[in-house]
Amino acid sequence: MPNMSLEKNKMPMLEASERIHSFDEVSLGYDEETALLEASRCLHCVNHPCVDGCPVNIDIPNFIECIKNKDYEGAYKVISLSSSLPAICGRVCPQESQCESKCVRGIKGQAVGIGRLERYVADIHNELEEEIIKPNSNGHKVAVVGSGPSGLACAYELSKDGYEVTIYEALHVAGGVLMYGIPEFRLPKKIVQKEISRLIKLGVKINTNVVVGKSIYIEELLEEYEAVYLGTGAGLPMFMNIEGEALNGVYSANEFLTRVNLMKAYKDDARTPILIGENVAVVGGGNVAMDAARTALRLGSKHVSIIYRRSMDELPARSEEVEHAIEEGVDFKLLNNPVKIIGENGHVKKVRCIKMELGAEDEKGRRRPIPIESSEYDLDVDVIIMAIGTSPNPLLKNSCDKLLTSSRGGIVVDNNGMTSIENVYAGGDAVTGSATVISAMSAGKSAAIEIKKRLGNLVL
Ligand code: FAD
Ligand code: SF4
Ligand code: SF4
Repeated sequence: MPNMSLEKNKMPMLEASERIHSFDEVSLGYDEETALLEASRCLHCVNHPCVDGCPVNIDIPNFIECIKNKDYEGAYKVISLSSSLPAICGRVCPQESQCESKCVRGIKGQAVGIGRLERYVADIHNELEEEIIKPNSNGHKVAVVGSGPSGLACAYELSKDGYEVTIYEALHVAGGVLMYGIPEFRLPKKIVQKEISRLIKLGVKINTNVVVGKSIYIEELLEEYEAVYLGTGAGLPMFMNIEGEALNGVYSANEFLTRVNLMKAYKDDARTPILIGENVAVVGGGNVAMDAARTALRLGSKHVSIIYRRSMDELPARSEEVEHAIEEGVDFKLLNNPVKIIGENGHVKKVRCIKMELGAEDEKGRRRPIPIESSEYDLDVDVIIMAIGTSPNPLLKNSCDKLLTSSRGGIVVDNNGMTSIENVYAGGDAVTGSATVISAMSAGKSAAIEIKKRLGNLVL
């Protein structure tokens, strides 16, 4: 008999008062008893709508059945047929708008905690000594540019079938946003590196500190490799273009988070400095803004505000992230928009905001924010973090005329993921603009399947 409890089993968490003083992971994961209880909520629906909600179509009812039978390695094997990064996706996937949004248990009550169960299985697996057998080479060589989730998924899909894959990564560490963007307290970096080490055991080579388009060109890669996959992400930050953005103390969220996550700027012996503001304002309402605000609190800032021009209902961040930010003491200044940053001696001193109200719906169905006349006021701040979006970096395009991009900077691809250059594929944020880990992985995997079809030796 399935467990007909309407509520998902709760995830144990660190208390807010404790967690704001450390970068330790906030969500602690299910224990076995809770995982079994949660798994027993699954009805094993014949048409399994949840699978359609997962961008990589993990066989969800099957892996949950394995959990019920306490066959955790069996569950891991089912998941890994479709995903190479389950411990990561189980933590950061926006499940509520993907697999879990389609779960029939969500019609009357809460969906099955698919992500939490996926994390449980992956964490158990990651504790084991894993034997990975490197497949024999099939002689085909492929280059992957960028080591974020989309590049890693492409490399995994190819290498497990014997393709010789080399990843070229601009930074000194592989992992893309998983390493430099998403903070440690949501995604511990040792988990990311553990998942990457599996790829290395499969034979994937990772060349870090290589900027394709500067240190080496796409044309040169095509001389050495039969196909190239571009998974270069969307790391170019946007600014508001308001007065004062060049003052000291104004960061893009990407720079701020990279300094903390990748360069560990908060450590006493770190070579990368970071300005720890007393009063910090984060502009934006997405996951990146929540991450930046929660990071600032952990660095020791006294007062951290989110400035967002719409209301709570339109906040694009995951509700879980917003709840965690509120619990931790982040102040939400909703229906507000910065118009000017005021400095003193070259440093941020205040931000001038204007109050907003919501007008008619725009073309996407969201109510448009409209400034309220004469409602400006000044807020004392010493650090401002802009988290209003990113776009693909034009560096690759500028280094290669033949690479077509859209007006928004995304690399243009056909239905098979191929760019305007023969045998050069692309996917992930570099094509779509900033999206999700799992959608980037899905694009990387699909392109790898197309590359296999084209180069031959497709193992089905
Ligand atoms: P990236 O992860 O950006 O990786 C691209 C890689 O390519 C980088 O390592 C970069 O250094 C490298 N590169 C770029 N140009 C070159 C070049 N010319 N030569 C060599 N290497 C190059 N998504 C979720 O699903 N859940 C979340 O909770 C979530 N939180 C997020 C929080 C933050 C702070 C940010 C910034 C994003 C978040 N996202 C989240 C979005 C998600 O991380 C991205 O959609 C995803 O990482 C995109 O993967 P990608 O492989 O396309 O690109
Ligand atoms: Fe759900 Fe993400 Fe796992 Fe797919 S990968 S089943 S969307 S948590
Ligand atoms: Fe289980 Fe929900 Fe999927 Fe049905 S839709 S198989 S209940 S996870």
